[in-house]
Formats: sequence, structure tokens, C-alpha cells
Amino acid sequence: MFDSLSSKLSGVFSGLSRRGRLSEGDVAEAMREVRMAMLEADVALPVVRDFVDKVRERAVGQEILESISPGQAVAKIVNDALIEALGGAGAATLNLSAAPPVAILMVGLQGSGKTTTTGKLGLRLSSRERKRVLLASLDVQRPAAQLQLQQLAERVGVTSLPILPGQSPQEITRRAMKTARQEGYDIVVLDTAGRLSIDEALMQEVREIREIAGPAETLLVVDAMTGQDAVNTAQHFNEAVGVTGVVMSRMDGDARGGAALSMKAMTGAPIKFVGMGEKPEALEEFYPERVAGRILG
Ligand code: GDP
Repeated sequence: MFDSLSSKLSGVFSGLSRRGRLSEGDVAEAMREVRMAMLEADVALPVVRDFVDKVRERAVGQEILESISPGQAVAKIVNDALIEALGGAGAATLNLSAAPPVAILMVGLQGSGKTTTTGKLGLRLSSRERKRVLLASLDVQRPAAQLQLQQLAERVGVTSLPILPGQSPQEITRRAMKTARQEGYDIVVLDTAGRLSIDEALMQEVREIREIAGPAETLLVVDAMTGQDAVNTAQHFNEAVGVTGVVMSRMDGDARGGAALSMKAMTGAPIKFVGMGEKPEALEEFYPERVAGRILG
């Protein structure tokens, strides 16, 4: 277990009187602890630097109330700034306000948890939000991919687009949108093909699919366990196809979530959900306040 940042900071400030303002010297030492906690949590270095600068500015000269210790005061400033940097308190929601059928495009590298997340999202939207949802796999690269989504859809009780062998991803997209319009679906979740690495062919395919479907959301699924690689992936996808939200899978592992902060800082795209396990129910909304606690330890 990591010591909580608040208790570490209390140690830093133990010699300080409870009254008065925080000096630059007091804060500098505290910022070393913050920096260390963030690097341990795998936050990218430039993001840590920016963050620490911002917090330092806020903390220096801060008057310490008698009711709290200087350590607690700085820990609160750090925590508040972190929540803000992660997108502000509360969960980021999906933008589903367009006229139905609303398309949601799922993108990401192979193995990131994209298909699993597509199934999870289908379940959430149909059971919690009472939407009529159609799932479609556009992955014609891996022979078993379309079947995998079909089985997942059956398991969660959501309809999937019937598989027609030989169709291109673009043709499947057109068919999915047409079916949704004709049969009155509210939402179509399109699971695009993943590749082992980011390549131009993949990005071009995603751009063409986006053109056809006109998605309200393009959600990038990244594996939280891959840390800095997940951040690089997010930057590439965002530059190439534009990402409206990120889903971090495998947050049930021991990743401390620093990648969430790096991704938000570097792409501006909000984290919308976190995957908390392999089961279809294991998808949670992203709450910056929870992840802030995890990053600070
Ligand atoms: P895709 O290639 O990106 O479509 O990846 P899959 O959806 O097939 O997922 C790859 C593996 O990761 C599967 O074994 C999933 O069960 C697993 N997986 C996906 N999301 C999570 C998650 O949030 N937590 C855990 N522990 N495993 C996950």
C-alpha cells in the first residue's frame, strides 16, 4: 500500500506552525512529494511538471486555517486541481442527443478490450437507458471477430447485425445504419477493426466509416495497464480520426490511473468510462474524484 499523500504531506509540514501563510520553501518540499506520487502513478513527465507548477502557484501564500494542518491544506489544493485536470467532478456522459439512430464508433488497437467494451456499452444502453441498441462488428480482418460480437450480443440480450460474409467494413456500416433507420433503433454501436499497431490503412478505414455513419461519439478504448503506450495511442488516434471520449479498460488491474490524467492533458478528450473486469456488467462511468484518489495514493 502507498501512504496517502495527505499523511506524507503532514510529515513534510510537521515542523510548521498551524498559522500563517505557506512559504515558497514549505511548498517546494511538498511539491517533491506530489511529483513523486504522480510519477509512481505513471503520469507522463511533462504533464506532471505542468500540474506541479499550477499547484505550486495556488499553494504559495495560501493562508492556513486553524482548523486544518498545512499538510491537509496542500493535499486539498492538490486533490482539487487533479479532479479539475481530469475533467471536473461528476461523470462525463455520452452525447446521445442527435436524431436517432445515433452512431457510436468504437476504435482502438487489437487486444485493448474494444469488442468487450462494445458489448458492455450495448448492455448499459439497453438495460439502464432503455434504448433500442444495434451492435455491428466491422472487423473483417480477424475471421472470428464478427462472431465474437454476435455471441457477446446474445449474451447481453442485445441485437447484432446479421453477418453477411464478403462485405467490406464500409458496406457493413451502410447496412447497419439502414437497418437501424428502417427498424427504429435508437443507437448503433459500430465495433471497428483493431490492428496490432497504428497504421495509416486503419486510420483511413476509420475515416471512411466515420464519413458514412456520422457518429455522435468516437470512443477510443485503451488498456489502462499499458501506461504511457496508452497515451501515445490516444494522441495518434485523436490526431488521425478525432476522439470524443476515451474508455480505459482493465482498470480492475493494479494500474494507478496516471494515464488518465496524461491522456486528458494531451488530447483534451474526456475519459467517459472505465472497464472494471471481463464481465459485461463491468463498465463504470468515469469519476475524476475516484481516480484522483488512486493517482495520489
Ligand atoms: P479487442 O481485440 O480490443 O476487441 O479486445 P477484446 O474485447 O477481445 O478483449 C481482450 C481481452 O481483454 C479479453 O480477454 C477481455 O475479456 C479482456 N478485457 C476487456 N476489458 C477488460 C477489463 O476491463 N478488465 C479485464 N480484466 N479484462 C478485460
